[in-house]
Amino acid sequence: MDIEIKAMIEKAAIAVVEGDALLITAGAGMGVDSGLPDFRGDKGFWKAYPPFERLGVSFVDMANPAWFARDPELAWGFYGHRLQLYRETAPHRGFDVLRRWALDLDHGSFVFTSNVDGQFQQSGFERERVIECHGSIGHLQCSEPCSNDIWRADGLDVKVDMGSFRALSELPVCPRCGALARPNVLMFGDWHWIPGRTAAQEQRFSDWLAKAAGPKLVIVELGAGSAVPTVRMTSEQIASRSGATLVRINPREPQVRHGHVGLEMNALEALEAIDARL
Ligand SMILES: [Zn+2]
Repeated sequence: MDIEIKAMIEKAAIAVVEGDALLITAGAGMGVDSGLPDFRGDKGFWKAYPPFERLGVSFVDMANPAWFARDPELAWGFYGHRLQLYRETAPHRGFDVLRRWALDLDHGSFVFTSNVDGQFQQSGFERERVIECHGSIGHLQCSEPCSNDIWRADGLDVKVDMGSFRALSELPVCPRCGALARPNVLMFGDWHWIPGRTAAQEQRFSDWLAKAAGPKLVIVELGAGSAVPTVRMTSEQIASRSGATLVRINPREPQVRHGHVGLEMNALEALEAIDARL
């Protein structure tokens, strides 16, 4: 490990030791170390979902609510498969490292994630301390939508033909109007996403920040790229407003402003390296 990275890891470790609150901000790169597919670029998406390459459909094309009207079996093949994959995937050890860091802090931790996979909650983070800015694949809503209702997808098990990625089993419907149900995930060009659940999380997040924001807040950002910049912008804005230290962990885009920590590493590798210095 080169001297510059060592110094950055040391600096991150000091910020964690001296901090009194931990904000974890996460993008898709956080899941890669658990073995979840990386949808970055068409190649990444098609490697995980070969049938869509044959159809010439990219991730951005597929993550569009229009599919639920145009081809419900294909839409639910894609989301049903992901729902099952996330349920079956055990979060990597980095999640435990973060939870351990937060244990002794006066204000504990809060998670801000663009991931819809529910992995933070699955690894033991309190539900009340997570904000999912792009919604959750583990929750459903009406595709019309006929109301603002959001309900859990717990009992839903969509059987998927792995050759065509089309749903084989009965598709979920809205209990109110009988229209097709869809995940409460914010898609591209999505005018029908119901923000109620995320809005309630946002309120809890701003209540927490009102107490926890300050120079002793540490922001650990993991695998958040600039393609969908919500997570990076949130980290930067809170860091600059509160005087907090930002630790940005990203194997491709680790750039930070002067005085912060940028680690050109994968999430798990960096968390374990910092943890070893505590
Ligand atoms: Zn409905």
